[in-house]
Amino acid sequence: MAEPPIYLDYHATTPVDPRVLKEMLPFFEADFGNAASRHAYGWRAEEAVQVARKRVAALIGAEAREIVFTSGATESDNLAIKGVFEACGGAGTHIVSARTEHSAVLDSLAEVEARGAQVTWVPVGPDGRVRIEDVEAALTEQTVLITLMAANNEVGTLHRVRKIGQLAEARGILFHTDAAQAVGRVPFDVRKDHVHLASLTAHKFYGPKGCGALYVRRRDPEVKITIQMHGGGHERGMRSGTSNVPGIVGLGMACELCRQEPGQEAERTARLRDRLEGALLERLDGVHVNGCREARLPGNLNVCFDGVDGESLLLALPDLALSTGSACHSDKVDPSHVLQAMGISRQLALAALRFGIGRPTTEAEVDRAADRVVEAVQALRTGR
Ligand SMILES: *Cc1c(COP(=O)(O)O)cnc(C)c1O
Repeated sequence: MAEPPIYLDYHATTPVDPRVLKEMLPFFEADFGNAASRHAYGWRAEEAVQVARKRVAALIGAEAREIVFTSGATESDNLAIKGVFEACGGAGTHIVSARTEHSAVLDSLAEVEARGAQVTWVPVGPDGRVRIEDVEAALTEQTVLITLMAANNEVGTLHRVRKIGQLAEARGILFHTDAAQAVGRVPFDVRKDHVHLASLTAHKFYGPKGCGALYVRRRDPEVKITIQMHGGGHERGMRSGTSNVPGIVGLGMACELCRQEPGQEAERTARLRDRLEGALLERLDGVHVNGCREARLPGNLNVCFDGVDGESLLLALPDLALSTGSACHSDKVDPSHVLQAMGISRQLALAALRFGIGRPTTEAEVDRAADRVVEAVQALRTGR
């Protein structure tokens, strides 16, 4: 039987850690109660939700009451951006962001733009980073929100979140960060980083899919957002809908595991990434590493290869599960919007591969992946 492909797409999603799954299982069966019910079953579920709330808060330096559970980072981004836009007066407000954001942020911004918001796009350098001076220069009297991601999901570039937060705070502007890739991978602390709103999602750090959170600051200052989901008033009225108790329990446990093992995993995945990067650079010419070498997610490697076609490259790598620098929009292949924003040519961007190294990745897998990529690129270049 053929071996399954080597999974190197941990920026897309991660498997549920067995310790997380174990914690979740009772809440599908014996402890199935609705956390809003006023009886023993409900109290049991509500208690578990509160434990999870504290665990999420502890990982990111927040207070438990500042955590709003959602269905994931997409919903959190929507709630933060539309919620601030509406609460701050709607049409005529000004928002600052960058073109390298995740589509959940870009499309939420397109929606508020259609409703009368002005958006200024701060340019990113070839490393995918914004300059603080450019963010500052983009601010106006009407600016209500800066939304810039903590870590990019394609090239792994880390923005200077703390500097952006300090700037926002000094100007009395709210700062939202999509921290879906940062949480659990690099240090992230909402207080130290002066963040007002932060999106995260469990399945990016070994928790279940369909469960995430929005951090909403409750003091210095208390952030007001307009709710986007009306109903029974769950989550202090900020997000109605029966709580996804097993998912929330899993999110909490995934946070707890990341908090207990800070640094170790990052060090290990960075070492494996460097090994892979080193092997490709040593054995192949015309390899370009994308992103910011000094400030990058530890398990991220995004590379382009001269003289190969992206589609052919992926087809030549059936035993690796990874992403390319392209996205298919209704049978038209577009180069990644992130690579394009960084000034990388269309042709080169189409020949990009994104490796995401994760908790289960082994040295043997990385070595095998390097062999496969080297063989495939050499074969495509020589036309054999
Ligand atoms: C994965 C991801 C999201 C979306 O998370 P969902 O759980 O799919 O809603 C948003 N932003 C970034 C940066 C991501 O990596």
